[in-house]
Amino acid sequence: MNLESLDKKYVLSTYARNYTNFTHGRGSKLYDENGREYIDFAAGIAVNSVGHANPVLTEAICKQAGQIIHISNLQVIEPQAKLAQRIVELSGYDMAVFFANSGAEANEGAIKIARKYGETRFEKKRYKVITLEHSFHGRTITTVKATGQESFHSPNFSPYPAGFSYEKSIADVYDAIDDETVAVLVELVQGEGGVAPFDKVEIQKLASFLKEKDILLIVDEVQTGVYRTGEFLASNLYEIEPDVITLAKGLGGGVPIGAVMTRHKDIFVPGDHGSTFGGNYLSCAAGLAVLEILSKLYDKGLLHEVLIHFESKLKGVVQKYPQLFEQEVGLGLMRGLRAKDGQIVSKILSQSMEEGVVILKAGRNTVRFLPSLTITKEEIDEGFERFERALDSLL
Ligand SMILES: *Cc1c(COP(=O)(O)O)cnc(C)c1O
Repeated sequence: MNLESLDKKYVLSTYARNYTNFTHGRGSKLYDENGREYIDFAAGIAVNSVGHANPVLTEAICKQAGQIIHISNLQVIEPQAKLAQRIVELSGYDMAVFFANSGAEANEGAIKIARKYGETRFEKKRYKVITLEHSFHGRTITTVKATGQESFHSPNFSPYPAGFSYEKSIADVYDAIDDETVAVLVELVQGEGGVAPFDKVEIQKLASFLKEKDILLIVDEVQTGVYRTGEFLASNLYEIEPDVITLAKGLGGGVPIGAVMTRHKDIFVPGDHGSTFGGNYLSCAAGLAVLEILSKLYDKGLLHEVLIHFESKLKGVVQKYPQLFEQEVGLGLMRGLRAKDGQIVSKILSQSMEEGVVILKAGRNTVRFLPSLTITKEEIDEGFERFERALDSLL
């Protein structure tokens, strides 16, 4: 049976899959079973933050696997404590961390922190969480309900947990707050929703208003975190001090890991929350290696150089193809091209694949780029040459 038939027969159908069979990669280059090379501008949806087969990450994972992969959270786990320390140091916030295995799980943890805060810190219980339209927070029953897109709230999976509502804009959040509101949950740059950054001043104003009202600001940095926007956290870039921050995608460089961190370091007591796999030796060793690689890149100014280069390439595309694109959007290496016609985005994706460059879609009409943060200028230039060839063939 060929791979496509095997997949269709034995794997539950939840994705509109592409059937190119990638067998290996190196940096931002991917190779399929026929030895064809692709430039990877998707990085496994912002997960492969240090590229494919990164030697430092590979060595860290192999070394850890040869010693101990997993114990349980009933024992202290050295790389877990060290990774928590490193995350807190790099963030600049006085926080403590809980480790999970995915973005949705990290957000579940954040919502539990908010719920407990609302139950224990006020005379009248607070439990409502406000999120934004076009947001994306995960696929569990709770995080899908926290996601501000009606299309995600299919009656097939109802009933959903109560207490979530969605606002069109940051300005609308103020009026939506009542005496049962415990938290506001936002992505500073909406990823799945269309690579849309919120305005920095608007976010800063909201943050100080929430602080005044003792309402928690939860920032979902599952996609924006770990240098994706050019700083360690988008919260650093926006110069705010959230109460709770969640991380996942880029943190393990491809090894599953999620994290929720909060300045309310005493909110949980033993028994409140837990995870069998979360924070095990393997994922935390991977996280430590990723942070070592990326913090060096950042400190040397190399990350900044690469993202400036990427941005200039995108601006070039908008100038060269005004009939296709309105503008370039996003921050750092979380980027998009807003297409004039949403219909053409899927064609651009499949044609790019034909030309040997992997890209993504976001929202209704955005071509999305989430390259590895270690991508080289040569790989960027080659990728854009192929991308433009794909665009030329569509004109
Ligand atoms: C991807 C993503 C999630 C969900 O992460 P999973 O690891 O798929 O559970 C949550 N929030 C944001 C902002 C994301 O981009």
